[in-house]
Amino acid sequence: MTADGPGTPGTLFIVATPIGNLADLSPRALETLRTVDAICAEDTRHTRQLLAHFGFERPLLALHEHNEGEIAERIVARLLNGDSLALVSDAGTPLVSDPGFRLVRAARAAGVKVSPVPGPSALIAALSAVGLPSDRFAFEGFLPAKASARREQLQRLAGEPRTLVFYESSHRIGEALADMRAAFGDERPAAIARELTKLFETVLDGTLAQLQARVEADENQRKGEFVVVVQGAGEDDGAKIAEGRRVYALLNEHLPPSTAAKLAAEISGAPRKALYGQGG
Ligand code: SAM
Repeated sequence: MTADGPGTPGTLFIVATPIGNLADLSPRALETLRTVDAICAEDTRHTRQLLAHFGFERPLLALHEHNEGEIAERIVARLLNGDSLALVSDAGTPLVSDPGFRLVRAARAAGVKVSPVPGPSALIAALSAVGLPSDRFAFEGFLPAKASARREQLQRLAGEPRTLVFYESSHRIGEALADMRAAFGDERPAAIARELTKLFETVLDGTLAQLQARVEADENQRKGEFVVVVQGAGEDDGAKIAEGRRVYALLNEHLPPSTAAKLAAEISGAPRKALYGQGG
């Protein structure tokens, strides 16, 4: 893709790539990757293999979370100079739990056209197949790795009425489900979309208690890449949590936090972990 002439900036194309099945690379994505002057890639080896699968090579520039701030301006300078470039990540749509935000912001601030070439994303693929309400949802990305921060984050989300979508890795799927169960309650409907578009694709649905039991019982269900989708709090859950937090705040003035939370949970019917650390 050549520049229109001196002084005409090139375009930055944000290109989605497959999340597993290589046949999901769209014809337009392929054409864009073939014709840009260079491709900014999260992992150049990974992207080189993708291009090799389709039988071509392009110059690659490494752009990952550790160097993005530093090289974004250099990439923008190339764009201003007339080069057209693509940004890809290792899988799915760049900027969705992947690098690229700083580059896109810098390019737009410099007046460079940024054009998406949409395609796969694990978030949307999961949401489309799990059968939970999808008209309004909140994408939470990865939960914090540290257990205390993860639990706090889940407690904050306990009363959220929109469907919640989380990314999770095989190292933490068991712990994450246990923490979700504690924060949202055993009965909250949820689903786990694993290895989407790949050989061992599985979509499990059920209550959080059922899902945790299935994942605990079957080692294979802890392998691969996961999207966890949790139905939002119903009006009933929301009201119970609000009442539980009110009771907890009152009891916490006179009792140790763990006793206050236990009693508030019993009185309100809300999950104990949804109350802890709230209002006191
Ligand atoms: N940008 C990507 C997207 O648009 O989906 C996501 C990148 S993020 C670093 C990687 C996470 O996405 C994985 O840990 C997993 O939670 C989810 N993911 C990616 N591919 C997946 C797949 N084939 N099946 C299920 N989840 C997947």
